[in-house]
Amino acid sequence: MALPDPAVSAPDDTSTVSWHAETAAAVAQHLEVDTAAGLSDEEAARRLLEHGPNQLSAVPGRPAWKRFADQLIQPLVLVLIGAGVVTAGLGEGVDSSVIFAVVLLNAGIGYWQEAKAEGALAALARSVATPVTVRRGGHRQQMDASQLVPGDIVLLAAGDRVPADLRLFLEHELHTDESMLTGESLPVAKHTDVLPADTLLAERLNMAYAGATVVAGQGCGLVIATGDATETGRIADLIASAPELATPLTRKMATFSNWLLWAIGGLALLTAGVGLLRGESAFEMFMAAVALAVGAIPEGLPAAVTVTLAIGVARMAKRRAIIRRLAAVETLGSTTVICSDKTGTLTENAMTVHALLCAGRHYAVSGHGYNPEGDIRLDEQPAGIAGALREALVAGALCNDASLARSGQHWKITGDPTEAALLVAARKGKLEEHTLQALFPRQDVLPFDATRQYMATAHAGDAGQIIYIKGALEKLLPRCVDRLDEHGQSVPFAIAEIEAAARSLAEQGMRVLLLARRLNRPGAALNDDSLHDLTLLGLAGMIDPPRKAAISAIRNCHSAGIRVKMITGDHAVTALAIAAQIGIDARQALTGRELAELDEAALAVAAHATDVFARVEPEQKLRLVRALQARGEVVAMTGDGVNDAPALKQANIGIAMGRGGTEVAKEAAAMVLTDDNFASIEAAVEEGRGVWDNLVKFITWTLPTNFGEGLVIVAAILFGSTLPITPLQILWINMSTAVLLGLPLAFEPIERGIMRRAPRRLETPVLDAALIRRIVLVSILLLAGSFGLFLWELKQGHTLPEARTVAVNVFVMVEMLYLFNCRSLTRSFWSLGLFSNLWVWGGIGSMALLQLLLTYWPPLNRVFQTAPIGWQEWGEIFAVGIASSLLIGLEKYWSHARHSA
Ligand code: ATP
Repeated sequence: MALPDPAVSAPDDTSTVSWHAETAAAVAQHLEVDTAAGLSDEEAARRLLEHGPNQLSAVPGRPAWKRFADQLIQPLVLVLIGAGVVTAGLGEGVDSSVIFAVVLLNAGIGYWQEAKAEGALAALARSVATPVTVRRGGHRQQMDASQLVPGDIVLLAAGDRVPADLRLFLEHELHTDESMLTGESLPVAKHTDVLPADTLLAERLNMAYAGATVVAGQGCGLVIATGDATETGRIADLIASAPELATPLTRKMATFSNWLLWAIGGLALLTAGVGLLRGESAFEMFMAAVALAVGAIPEGLPAAVTVTLAIGVARMAKRRAIIRRLAAVETLGSTTVICSDKTGTLTENAMTVHALLCAGRHYAVSGHGYNPEGDIRLDEQPAGIAGALREALVAGALCNDASLARSGQHWKITGDPTEAALLVAARKGKLEEHTLQALFPRQDVLPFDATRQYMATAHAGDAGQIIYIKGALEKLLPRCVDRLDEHGQSVPFAIAEIEAAARSLAEQGMRVLLLARRLNRPGAALNDDSLHDLTLLGLAGMIDPPRKAAISAIRNCHSAGIRVKMITGDHAVTALAIAAQIGIDARQALTGRELAELDEAALAVAAHATDVFARVEPEQKLRLVRALQARGEVVAMTGDGVNDAPALKQANIGIAMGRGGTEVAKEAAAMVLTDDNFASIEAAVEEGRGVWDNLVKFITWTLPTNFGEGLVIVAAILFGSTLPITPLQILWINMSTAVLLGLPLAFEPIERGIMRRAPRRLETPVLDAALIRRIVLVSILLLAGSFGLFLWELKQGHTLPEARTVAVNVFVMVEMLYLFNCRSLTRSFWSLGLFSNLWVWGGIGSMALLQLLLTYWPPLNRVFQTAPIGWQEWGEIFAVGIASSLLIGLEKYWSHARHSA
């Protein structure tokens, strides 16, 4: 019931068309495209110019003023604002304006850092391309979803994200999840029939809307709208989701800061009370309390943590691991188990058929990769392509959705490498898939599915329908009733013989596929139940070489105390053979069937003890992750298919494949590998450890400043002395050193030997006893150095501003020298190479310049109540700095020696 729409006149005038109420043929006509061939490349290019790329325009997130305001309504900042208001009320104009300037500067830096970190994460997420399969110019091709135009023909498979609004015209068991559009989370079964024009959006079953995901089946659709013109584009608010910047560590920091705020508030009240009792003026005591509050709270800490994590994200991206959730950067360093797929991650996923077993004969297939040059030999002689061998090759070529194309010197494949390998094998037997497809047109298909582990297609043959099937031996051999012989006659077979032959191929690390056929009545249904009484055609054994980089990466993981477990859909014997080649030392594999019989407690034991899991169904990965986590492991798990998503979400770090992975898997994952390579996981773990190290270094470096300042104020009040450092000077020190001296630590290169340490346990506190001791020591040295010199200068007859200038410079000097110490938590700075982090030198140079300005530039002298000092004072400051460094260095040496003893 094609309803000619009077509003439709030209393909461009598409806004008023009720696509679901048109037949597919009418839709194709409106869009001026032939569904068999697709658009030509020229026409697609023209339409791309006209409609623009298939992308949603950026949606503004939280408005800038709101983000800025959020920086101001944090407890610490509110305290500062309060202090500013009261000082203004007391008539201290300069003090209060500097406090407000610092508040604004701090908020500005926080805002800028947050925006940059968010922007970087979002840009990385976008950098993972969304590939789509389309038919253009008569060929299937893969391209980026942004290149789609109205009229394109899109081929959908399980795990895909629907890239644009589509009118479906072919489907097989196609089910989509449209919850993002309709809120309904149950999968929706699709069809291609015409629907009444007034059908509601959620019920238009012959349409697939951009953003929905394909949870099962296959389909073909015509693009009717792209980019902002899609239904999703119209409700764009849904898309504006900013990446999450909070991580377990930043949350811990925030709690720590709040706790500190109360503790310091209490301490301020107490010391002010003591001061008042001793007869100090209320004004003096208020200023001292303010100094204590602004000094002792590490205001820059949460922002610095976010920046260090963001720098880690950038480093990981360079090593081909794209982080989608910031928290993963932290957890990566604690990973204790990596569960990895075999095919494509540990191996190249470059399949080549090397052996064919047909009619009881063992054929060898020559040639390399996807280049179809080579031949099929029997006992070193070219084999005659007839009987069972011919049918097996035909089955492999027809029960196949891959395609093969020459590009220059290389052969490129589209689709599943296992299937491409079968096309290549058929061509080596002089059977070309396009000719076969024309002779035996496909009528129906049961697509490959990791749970079903086979694929079947129905074809029109001379004597009725032929069904070709290929898949895992265990699934198909029990359904076979006879086999073809070398003349093409059906004969009985011995199951044990076939199993032994398959085993010997698997022992050589080959993936074994069984090829079978069934002659059907025309029009009979193609489903799991109808696939019985099959005729065995042969076995194909294909090799998939291990990735060289994976071998050394696994070795590194082992020395870093990380177990590597292979989880594969392949056969146990194949899996064990490959495991041995890549350095996973496993004597036994646990199969999916055995795994299903274990209860949770038994599984926890088995999951720990076993390193190779074979014939595992994707759904079982979730149980495995949980079992490992129950034993306290921090699990990184890879996945690519739509059914892997729950396991990826459950794992501490879900890792999706950027090239071969489905969109659903990528969205569930915390990290995406752009090269699908196991070695990139190991690199990310190494970076994760490095980032954590740098965070700890920053914290160990920054806390003594705050504690030292707090101690100085408390001591001054308790001893009834004038404050050696004013609140404004404290603000100066905190703001300038955190940025110029602290941030360079985020750029520290990874320390040697980082992959020879055991993983850090997630629950261990950020600072261990040794670091806390170091922080306390440095705080006390700062107190003694600055207070001591301050009193000394006063005693020498220097003015108060001069003595305070000396005290401020002592703080900065000790911090500068201590920075070198913090470049490594255990090793001495000279063993790191003095110039291995030039940021440190840049920071120290700028900081020294600022201190000279603070000391000698009259405007700063006026604002900060500082005064020029002489050579002798500098000498004293330097001497305190050097003495402190020596003491801190000795403590580090002693602590390290004791630790490693
Ligand atoms: P891994 O989990 O290590 O990546 P895998 O993804 O290769 O393993 P599956 O793709 O689930 O594992 O394949 C499991 C089994 O299904 C294979 O051993 C093979 O017998 C069969 N198989 C794989 N691909 C196809 C296909 N395209 N058509 C038919 N059967 C297939």
